Amino acid sequence: MDLYEYQAKDLFAAHDVPVLPGDVADTPEKAREIAARLGQTVVIKAQVKTGGRGKAGGVKLADTPDDAQAKAENILGLDIKGHITRRVLVTPASDIAEEYYFSFLLDRANRTFLAMASAEGGMDIEQLAVERPDALAKVPVDAIAGVDIAKAREIAVAARIPAEVAEKAAEVIVKLWDTFVGEDATLVEVNPLVRDPQDNIIALDGKVTLDGNADFRHPAHADLVDKDAENPLEAAAKEKDLNYVKLDGEVGIIGNGAGLVMSTLDVVAYAGEKHGGVKPANFLDIGGGASAEVMANGLHIILGDADVKSVFVNVFGGITACDAVANGIVKALEILGDEATKPLVVRLDGNNVDEGRRILAEANHPLVTVVDTMDNAADKAAELAAAGA
Ligand code: GDP
Ligand code: MN
Repeated sequence: MDLYEYQAKDLFAAHDVPVLPGDVADTPEKAREIAARLGQTVVIKAQVKTGGRGKAGGVKLADTPDDAQAKAENILGLDIKGHITRRVLVTPASDIAEEYYFSFLLDRANRTFLAMASAEGGMDIEQLAVERPDALAKVPVDAIAGVDIAKAREIAVAARIPAEVAEKAAEVIVKLWDTFVGEDATLVEVNPLVRDPQDNIIALDGKVTLDGNADFRHPAHADLVDKDAENPLEAAAKEKDLNYVKLDGEVGIIGNGAGLVMSTLDVVAYAGEKHGGVKPANFLDIGGGASAEVMANGLHIILGDADVKSVFVNVFGGITACDAVANGIVKALEILGDEATKPLVVRLDGNNVDEGRRILAEANHPLVTVVDTMDNAADKAAELAAAGA
């Protein structure tokens, strides 16, 4: 889960990373109140889960409460890369001597954590990374050893942070690592990490991605979910404990096992090229041992997606054999009744496949087509989606 800047900074504060106080407003009047309370020049910052707000006009200084209200009026409702601004953060403006870049992230390719840091942070960091990659230090971090003050100094030096503030920066880096580990984050990014004229180091921006697999360790993280912004299908799936991700295509996908579902997405996207460019509408892994009820829950979510024109059920019978899966599909269609309105392509293979196919043939449901191979089934599902679109 990606967090808003204000949420990221709340986590930073909880781990003693220096941030400036502030509050969020969803109306210009509230922004005015907060500015009046802070009693100084403030920054009004769009709270959207995307970068580049500064360049899009989503970060503005305001000298007075009146000005804060006017700037908030401009920023609220602003479309930043397809994200509509619903809230602004009102926070004291900081004098900036220098802007640094800092992040901890999961480096999947190298199977390690990585610190990325540069003394040349700010809004053009992406450009810097492309044009002068040597100015962006990349320091691997061992998961067991972590980041102590010595390691943090090494990172600060590699980033070419000026010697006068390197020690202070290193202390902040250790606290950012505490945040990264303590909150089970997969990304903690601060851009800019600023040096103010008094040589304080402050996190002026914050971007945090939390690892959803660790939610059970962090009951408090549930409060960070933005219910209004959540996709309603994903919310409904979560309620049923389904591993579902909404995508932007037309072919609904159900499979058992994450790997099988991932490859199903690939073959459907590939087959779709021949059928008007139709694509998978979702990821849904119902897991091994899926009961008829779970199958029905999954079908219910997918059939409730207005974008879906056909459904591809791709199951490999393992511990739960194909006959049980076939019975599950038949029962699920019974449970759904009139709700099942879109064509289903079913590919079954694996343990007890013959019996599974026999059960589906015998049920002879008008919406179901059984296809023997994964490629042919993907092709059929794509064809049906294109015809239904
Ligand atoms: P982003 O563009 O979405 O990453 O938003 P940031 O929070 O990084 O803000 C963009 C830029 O606005 C920063 O790089 C700063 O130059 C500037 N900025 C943000 N907060 C302040 C502030 O408190 N004071 C001043 N003077 N500039 C700020
Ligand atoms: Mn930033």
